Amino acid sequence: MKLKGRLIINGLGIICLVVLVAWVLNKPTSNVQNLPHVKNVIVMVADGYGPGALALYREWNQLKALPTDQISHIGLMYTNSGGDYVTDSGAAATAMGTSVATYNKGIGVDMKGRPVTNLSEAFKKMGKSVGLISTNTVTDATPAGFAAHSQSRHNQSLIPVHYLDQGYDVILGGGRKKWIPKANGGKRKDGKDLIQAAQAKGYAYVEDREALSRVSGTAKLLGLFHGSYMSYKVDRKPGCVAESSKEPSLKEMTVKALDILSKNPKGFFLMSEGARVDHAAHAIDVNAMMYEIQEFYAALSAVYEWAKNRKDTLVVVVSDHDTMNLSPTQLTRYDAFQSMKCSTDDFAQKIERDADGKYTRGSIIALLKQNGVEDPTEGEIQLIASSHGMYSYKSAVAVGHVTARRFGVSSNNAVVNWETGTSGHTSVMIPVFARGIGSQVFQGVYHNTSIAKKIGALTGAKTYVGKPYAVQSSLAAK
Ligand SMILES: [Zn+2]
Repeated sequence: MKLKGRLIINGLGIICLVVLVAWVLNKPTSNVQNLPHVKNVIVMVADGYGPGALALYREWNQLKALPTDQISHIGLMYTNSGGDYVTDSGAAATAMGTSVATYNKGIGVDMKGRPVTNLSEAFKKMGKSVGLISTNTVTDATPAGFAAHSQSRHNQSLIPVHYLDQGYDVILGGGRKKWIPKANGGKRKDGKDLIQAAQAKGYAYVEDREALSRVSGTAKLLGLFHGSYMSYKVDRKPGCVAESSKEPSLKEMTVKALDILSKNPKGFFLMSEGARVDHAAHAIDVNAMMYEIQEFYAALSAVYEWAKNRKDTLVVVVSDHDTMNLSPTQLTRYDAFQSMKCSTDDFAQKIERDADGKYTRGSIIALLKQNGVEDPTEGEIQLIASSHGMYSYKSAVAVGHVTARRFGVSSNNAVVNWETGTSGHTSVMIPVFARGIGSQVFQGVYHNTSIAKKIGALTGAKTYVGKPYAVQSSLAAK
C-alpha cells in the first residue's frame, strides 16, 4: 500500500477511535434499554441541608459514621431555578419531581405557569401507590412540588385538593389547618372540610403518635399531627414550647408509610422530608438543626434497613438546596450549642414584652445568659431587640445569629435572611446519595431537573408539560 493510502486508512482509524471514545464517554446514563427496572422508589429529602451543615453534624455527632457513608453512588447537583441562581423549595421540588425548571415559588408548573405532570401522578397512573411525608405542613413546597400544581406555593388551600383528587395513598405531616374550614378553627376560606372528605373516600385519619402506631389494615392513610409545622425535635424536651407534644417522629411516619405502601404488588413511590432542617438553618439555630438532622438520619436508617435485601428498590437521599451556608470552623464549640436547651424559636417566644409590646432588655439579657452567652454585648442585645415587630421567627434568626457567632459557626448573617426572597438560601452544590437498584445513574454532576429524568428512565414514569393526568375531581374549588 502506498504511503498516502496508509495515512488515509490510519487517519480513518484514528477518527473512528475518537468517535468511539467520545460515544463511550457521552453514552447517556439514562438509556432505558441498559438499565434495570426499578419497582419502588424512595426519595428522602433533608430540606436546606448543605455540605457545610453535613460537616457540622458529623462533628456534633462525634465523627460517628452516617448512614450515607457506605454509599457507592454519589452525585453532585446544582440547583439554580428557572429564574434565579438561588432556588426556593418550590422550584427545587418542581425540578426534582417533574424534570422542569420553574421560577421560585412555582409548584409543579413551568416558567409560563402551565402545569407539569409530576412523578407522583405518573406513578399513580402506573398503578403504584404514592406516599408523601413532611415535618412541615404536608401541603408546603417540597411535597407539593413532587405531587401537585399551583402558580404560587402560598396557595396551599389548593394542594390538599390535588392530593385527594389524585388519590395519594399515604399523606402524613403537619398543616392540619389547611384542611379544615375557618369556622372549625382552620384556614380554608371555601368552607370545605377536607379531612371529612378524605374519610368519605376511605382514608383512615389520625392526629397523634399513639393513633398512628395503632393504624393497621388500611390502604389509605391521612395523618395531620399539628395545625402548622410539626414541632422541632429539640422543643419536645421538658421546659420547651412543645414539651407536651404527641407528634410522631419522622422515622415513625416513614416506617408506617412503608408498611402500607409496600402492600401494593405493583410497587410504590415515597417522598419523605425532614423539612425543619431548613427552618433551623434559616434561623442559624445550630442546636435545633442538629436534632432535626439526627431525626432525618434515624428515618433514613429505617429506610435502608427496610430496603437492604430487596432487589427492586431505589433509595435517593438529597437536599433541595443549602440554607444560610452554615459550616464549622476551628472555633466551633459543640459543647456550647449542646447546652442550649431549646430552639431559638422557643427563646424568641419567651422574650418578655413591655407595656408597648416591645421586647424588654432585661429578658433578652437573662435568656442569652441561660443559653451560654454570659456577657452579651450591646450590639448583640440590639440585634435581637431590633427584630421586635417582625414575626417571632425573625427574632429567632437574630438569636441564632448571636449564638452562632459566639460559638464559632460560620454562616450568612441575619440580614441575608431578613432581606432576600429565599430568606437566606444559597446556590452551593448539593450531594446526592443513591443506593439500591439503578443507583449507578446518580453518579456524576448534573442539574436538579435530572433527578426526575433519572427516576423516570429507571421506572418508565413519564413527566411532561401539559395537563396533569385526568382525575375525577369532586373537590376542586371553582
Ligand atoms: Zn428554606
